[in-house]
Amino acid sequence: MPYAIDETHDPNLASWVESANDPETDFPIQNLPFVMCDPDNGDGPQIGVVIGDMVVPLRSLWKRGLLRSVLEADCALAAPAACPCDTQPQCACALSCEQRRGLRSELSRVLSTDADVEQRKHVEEVMIELHPEQLLLPMQARDYTDFYASVYHATNVGSMFRPDNPLLPNYKWIPVGYHGRASSVVRSGTPITRPHGQQAPSEEGGTPVFGPCKLLDYELEMGVVIGHGNALGQPISMAEAEDHVLGLCLLNDWSARDIQKWEYQPLGPFLAKNFATTVSPYIVTMEALAPFRCAAMDRPAGDPKPLPHLDSPANRESGGFDITLEVFLASEEMRRRGLAPARISRGNFKDMYWTAAQMVAHHTSNGCNLQPGDLIGSGTVSGPRRESRGCLLELTWDGDPWANPPVIKPGTARTPIELPTGETRKFLEDGDEVIIRGYCQREGFRRIGFGECRGVIQAAR
Ligand code: CA
Repeated sequence: MPYAIDETHDPNLASWVESANDPETDFPIQNLPFVMCDPDNGDGPQIGVVIGDMVVPLRSLWKRGLLRSVLEADCALAAPAACPCDTQPQCACALSCEQRRGLRSELSRVLSTDADVEQRKHVEEVMIELHPEQLLLPMQARDYTDFYASVYHATNVGSMFRPDNPLLPNYKWIPVGYHGRASSVVRSGTPITRPHGQQAPSEEGGTPVFGPCKLLDYELEMGVVIGHGNALGQPISMAEAEDHVLGLCLLNDWSARDIQKWEYQPLGPFLAKNFATTVSPYIVTMEALAPFRCAAMDRPAGDPKPLPHLDSPANRESGGFDITLEVFLASEEMRRRGLAPARISRGNFKDMYWTAAQMVAHHTSNGCNLQPGDLIGSGTVSGPRRESRGCLLELTWDGDPWANPPVIKPGTARTPIELPTGETRKFLEDGDEVIIRGYCQREGFRRIGFGECRGVIQAAR
């Protein structure tokens, strides 16, 4: 694995940006996630790095003579016109792993309490306050692919529709996925309009209805952001897969369950998913995540070993990510009464059956080319416990294939979740806000977070 733990992860490292030393912050000096910001200083929209409650715009910093040892004049990040991908937000994607490591190391130095006084002054001149709602989409994905990598999610959902045969025969051999829609990937905070769509007839042979979705859901996922692409026809091997990943963000794959149920066979999800996908504004880099790597999920006894092109000792040992993920819901009524959003689930990204490296290797195994800034969704992150289910379809379902003995119930048996106002939800209602948060924590290291991925449901048009 190319991502090593170094001096930038030292838990004792502190910053002269005071807010970065708050034990509760998602963005201590050990994190330094990429964002897209517009500092409104004439330098235009550009990549920034977040520290505490501030953003450091990198091109503005470069123009003041910093980061020169790391970034050449023709470097995409410093000179947007030279960006090989034409669009500024992808500039960080164009950096090599080595440049990224150098950039992190240099930024860690100028933001630390040991910073050179002159350099600190330059950073102070260009840095702006962090207002998450003013950040731009962190990547300009030309393609978005969504996987289905949690065996808990796949088994729960499969059990609702095929109780005797929840997992299809391919599940343990390939990371199942579909091509999503990049044009409707939106940044955190964008309101989500309840989609219209065609829904199954109420009786067999009847006429389907077209109208607003009645079973609107979220899906808690991680987004994997591609840095370097691969040439068409040239697969990415497991050994190289992580070199192609820039970092991770939070992702909400909004899902219209009634539309999905009617349309998904035989070609998979289409209009039930492509009306909106929300991503958090922060890309937490693979470098920052180095201390929080863990073994890939232990395959239960009897499960097949992946085929060689989807397997490697490094992936088995450290292909996973230990990231705690939480979903909060706030109804309009809760916000009106000033109540804090209620946590409705808590899971962990380490529970995925397939790793990010396996998704990248599988995606390109036929020669398909990934491009800088492409977005890969992990699929709903669910775990073995009821509280770790990553969408309402699972969370309010009364079945539990993981209980001993398993409880399998048809998809219609549901217990709603209750909110602090006494309101109940089986699926999302207009005015509901869904907030995803994530963080990494490990003894001996500084906690780092992913910020928030938010969206409010608006009434259908
Ligand atoms: Ca999904």
